[in-house]
Amino acid sequence: MIKLDVLVIGDYDRDADGNVFGAYSTSTLIRTDGMNIVVDASTKDMWPAIKTSFRQIGIYPKDVDAVVLTHSHHDHVGNLNQFKDAEVLIHSGEERPPASARIVDADIELTKGIRLVHTPGHTPGSMSVFVDADRRYAVAGDAVPKKSNYEKMAPPSINTDPAAALKSIKHIVGYADVIVPGHDAPFATR
Ligand SMILES: [Zn+2]
Repeated sequence: MIKLDVLVIGDYDRDADGNVFGAYSTSTLIRTDGMNIVVDASTKDMWPAIKTSFRQIGIYPKDVDAVVLTHSHHDHVGNLNQFKDAEVLIHSGEERPPASARIVDADIELTKGIRLVHTPGHTPGSMSVFVDADRRYAVAGDAVPKKSNYEKMAPPSINTDPAAALKSIKHIVGYADVIVPGHDAPFATR
């Protein structure tokens, strides 16, 4: 059975000119038989909250086997050093991959029911994690940073290719009953 828990819910603020500041990403734990997977590592400021979530769930960060990075932006990779024994996975389209990372070309099945899916547009190598659990979840990173991007069908304001970004949102919505956004709380699509 696959279980999904959000370790910390991401957020960001905007200044008067609309520029993003204070960004920290959502971090999600996916547990399946024999494998614990974290999607995105948020920022160092969030580590106490993430550690508390691990304790409440009843596993330790050292029990994490794999960390999937939806992309390489700094607000998604801050606590990688806390998962020293885990394999780090990132898409080949991303700049500045962490040194020891396994570079993947989505779409691959990481383990039964858990797929890495290329959802470019925010960055060229953005990928989402599609999880076939009690419901179908998409852990979307900044392919869907906020619920409002889904409600307005609006690409993330920071993007490298808005048309690809919109296509990726549609791809995610087509699959997922529940979306876990990069900087917002999970929400249901149906
Ligand atoms: Zn980003």
